[in-house]
Amino acid sequence: MSVDRRALLQGGAALAAAGFPLPGIVSAQPQFKADPFTLGIASGEPASDGFVIWTRLAPEPFTVRGGMTLLPVEVQWDIAADPSMQQIVRSGTATARIEVAHAVHIEASGLEPARDYFYRFRAGNAESPVGRTRTLPAPGAEVAELRFASAGCQRWEDGFYTAWRRLAEENFDFVIHYGDYIYEQPYRANWPNGQPVARPMPRDQGGCFTLPDYRRRYALYKSDPDLKAAHASCPFVASFDDHEVFDNWANDHDAKNTPPQIFLFRRAAAFQAWYEHMPVRASMIPRGPDMLAYRALRIGTLADITVLDTRQYRSPQACGDGFKICPDADDPARTMLGEAQERWLGERLRAAGSTWQVLAQQVLFAQLDFSQFEWVVEKAPGARNLDAWDGVSAARKRVMDMLREARATNPVVLTGDAHMGMALELKEDWNDPASKCSAVEFLAPSISSNGDGAPTVTNDEAIRRLNPHLRHLGNERGYARHTVTPKQWQADYRALERITTPDAPVFTRTSFVVEGGNPGLSRA
Ligand code: FE
Ligand code: CA
Repeated sequence: MSVDRRALLQGGAALAAAGFPLPGIVSAQPQFKADPFTLGIASGEPASDGFVIWTRLAPEPFTVRGGMTLLPVEVQWDIAADPSMQQIVRSGTATARIEVAHAVHIEASGLEPARDYFYRFRAGNAESPVGRTRTLPAPGAEVAELRFASAGCQRWEDGFYTAWRRLAEENFDFVIHYGDYIYEQPYRANWPNGQPVARPMPRDQGGCFTLPDYRRRYALYKSDPDLKAAHASCPFVASFDDHEVFDNWANDHDAKNTPPQIFLFRRAAAFQAWYEHMPVRASMIPRGPDMLAYRALRIGTLADITVLDTRQYRSPQACGDGFKICPDADDPARTMLGEAQERWLGERLRAAGSTWQVLAQQVLFAQLDFSQFEWVVEKAPGARNLDAWDGVSAARKRVMDMLREARATNPVVLTGDAHMGMALELKEDWNDPASKCSAVEFLAPSISSNGDGAPTVTNDEAIRRLNPHLRHLGNERGYARHTVTPKQWQADYRALERITTPDAPVFTRTSFVVEGGNPGLSRA
């Protein structure tokens, strides 16, 4: 570097510290007084030839600007073939800018399929830990085995992220995050029943409405060492559900009579913060309140995974939402995916040609009678979750028709949201238990939401009697582990005895297998 340029940079840094960045000046050698990698590192969006690597510079993560000046900062990155970072295969420089909270998203390509890679960042005098990631198998490759997890619903104050720690230890090919990565609600010391929560947020964490609010919430969640370990262990496929924005939002509605144009400002802030903190591609950068989040992953000839967006285009919940009997839920005009996404899904399913057809999405797909669940007020049989696909039954039928028309032999739906673990058979006729099973659904338990659980749900027997296609119902925290071969799909419900104290071991509560070409669940 020339003496002139060095002097200019130092002058620029001084001005930037005062809040006046010089145009075009980038700090290549910032001197951090504290570690800027407090929020960890991550990788995501695995493809057969690459992935995204992510970090955000935030030496003081809970302050408004994360402890950064207004000056753009150069971040060096390396991708290596080995964990000791000796065999570097790609490296480069990205600019971390204040407009996106000094986050960087690097899309690596041209790498080899189906193998581990390792990555690291450097900024000025600071160096990040090393992360492990993995590419997908080559297009058209026969894949002997795929191992991945589905997980989500991680409310901070409900308990420790031990499930993320245990997941990190499994070195998965990838994780599908079904959403509720953050919860937007304000600080609370106690559960509604007066019991203290397991780990309260700092008192100054209010409800999230603005971009600084959402950024501080992500900073809190991402400061957790167990969550950081999970991100450093394998690539994530991130999606969002309601709490990344607001409880049970739907399209441009928030169920609080906020004018839609005003709610969309909140949605835009929430989406920007989500983008800033997730290892996703530039194609997902939000434009105002809109983000193109549905996409697909092809795993050789083994599986085609569509990642759906069940919030942005849906009809507002019928009958004022809740768990109710609601004939309006069957209105054929109602939608979950919106027209464009529904058409895209149909095209994708028809073109798939893989052994397993996977719909990775957020809310319960199967019909389920909720009337006997403890917290449901409506006790007459037929009460449904109107925030889930039961609230858009005609749209669900259209998806099931698309699966049939595409001659999908092995459809598997992956879900979250319920803060329980469930395994379900999807029936051609929901009201006839003897009717053909055309697909299965694995609903993963929550990482932490709802706190310490129990092996079973209150009224378990009555619930199962009403719902013979519900083959597993558990109330423990954890995640779902999927081991997929051309011959069978095995889903293990990984569970923790407690999360209100750290470090619990993980165990498998129950396992199911689906035989290739024969939709239906059997106990493993
Ligand atoms: Fe949740
Ligand atoms: Ca949810």
